[in-house]
Amino acid sequence: MASQTHHPHFLLLPLMSQSHLIPFTQMAKLLATNGVSVTIVLTPLNATRFNMVIDQAKALNLKIQFHLLPFPSAEAGLPEGCENMDTLPSLQYNHLFFAASNMLKEPLEKWLSELETLPTCIVSDICLPWTTNVASKFNIPRVVFHGISCFSLLCSHNISHSEVHENVGTSMSKPFVVPDLPHTIELTKAQLPEAMNQNTKAWKHAIDQFKAAELSAEGILVNTFEELESMYVRGYEKVVRKIWCIGPLSLHDKLILDRFGREDNHNKTSTDETELCLNFLSSKKPCSVVYACFGSLSRIRASQLKELALGLEASSHPFIWVIGKNDCCEEIEKWLEEESFEERNRGRGIIVRGWAPQVEILSHPSTGGFLSHCGWNSALEAVSAGVPMIAWPMIAEQFLNEKLIVEVLKIGVGIGVEAGEVLVKNEDVKKAIEQVMEQGGDGEHRRNRAREMKEKAHKAVQDGGSSASNCKLFLQDILGMLHNS
Ligand code: UDP
Repeated sequence: MASQTHHPHFLLLPLMSQSHLIPFTQMAKLLATNGVSVTIVLTPLNATRFNMVIDQAKALNLKIQFHLLPFPSAEAGLPEGCENMDTLPSLQYNHLFFAASNMLKEPLEKWLSELETLPTCIVSDICLPWTTNVASKFNIPRVVFHGISCFSLLCSHNISHSEVHENVGTSMSKPFVVPDLPHTIELTKAQLPEAMNQNTKAWKHAIDQFKAAELSAEGILVNTFEELESMYVRGYEKVVRKIWCIGPLSLHDKLILDRFGREDNHNKTSTDETELCLNFLSSKKPCSVVYACFGSLSRIRASQLKELALGLEASSHPFIWVIGKNDCCEEIEKWLEEESFEERNRGRGIIVRGWAPQVEILSHPSTGGFLSHCGWNSALEAVSAGVPMIAWPMIAEQFLNEKLIVEVLKIGVGIGVEAGEVLVKNEDVKKAIEQVMEQGGDGEHRRNRAREMKEKAHKAVQDGGSSASNCKLFLQDILGMLHNS
């Protein structure tokens, strides 16, 4: 078998989905600026989306490379060329996507067995639990990367551990209090990540595998920062072996690229869209624009998009509204056309179809509020930019993120949804926007708290800041472990 390399070499294994690939590529740059070489395992189509990472690495003299494995779409029963979760025809294909992701184990092992020197460490996405076996087979230390908050990790853990949600029987809307948390957090079953409400053997097995992969890891890297949720970091640290909070990764990324005088363009945004959004923002007053975007996987039905459009229009604020590529459909386009919606709102609002330069929009001084589904990357990007949020959670752990944003950090308002799939009326959209954009009163308090958090986030990634230091500690811990073995 191959030996371990002397020059530290970290192997990064992300799930092939934008909200995993983005922080993984940012983490690659962070690790590489700390002197290690990094290989990211990708599939061919995903590599083309992130080619600029290689260009940036070359320009910045960072040792980052991709290792490509073909994605077994057809073998798993997925349409040809389906390599990223945002290309799935519908949510029903999720389980096939995970099956295809599991099939990457064999070619990865084959590649590792052919290497002369093995990687120093595997950093695995939590969604790829089979990396546990790979790491133990090749005797490589493995850590797990979490792209979600410690708040939601601890909530989910305490609920599963206590089974408190079973006390409400079959009711999806009866609230229960999450036990053993520093704050009183009430949730309903309808607000839990879908997997927690599944009682089938297959689901239980899958969850057990995820948990085992996490507990057997040397520790977990989390895209958060200590000052944001320290009590929850400490709380979850009692569950796992070790936590290194190294976020916000998007801020590290900006710092790295700025330090070298490069533009960040990793989100595959065409310059046209960037120009359109930035010119629009520059024509508006500070903190006046509402940015509405629902992540990389949104599939919002046309009836809901219409209500959203009318709500944005009814609020008195300028807006940038992103209609995701899976939201775009004939029905909404026809409606927008018939209503002359864009014409009617010319100068007042713009629609971006597909993909917007989110981090740039959020960091623009004219952006004053973010209407978001509360995906963790989006939430952290809003925190990093000091922009208060309107929380409109839909699926996964987004309702937990809403609790953190609205009730714990108090940097946002909820739009009032108690469960996914509930139609939010345009009046509620308007009301929530006005609340968050309010000058003076609670609006001002929220904005000030958001700004304080932004300061803390920026400090965390500076030299000597908590996340910058945690990254160094992480590397020391892993390299020390090898030294002592
Ligand atoms: N994103 C973006 N432009 C878009 C939509 C999304 O840059 O038009 C990025 C966003 O900045 C974030 C990621 O995609 O980094 C979405 O991740 P999140 O965890 O918020 O949501 P998910 O995609 O998992 O629902």
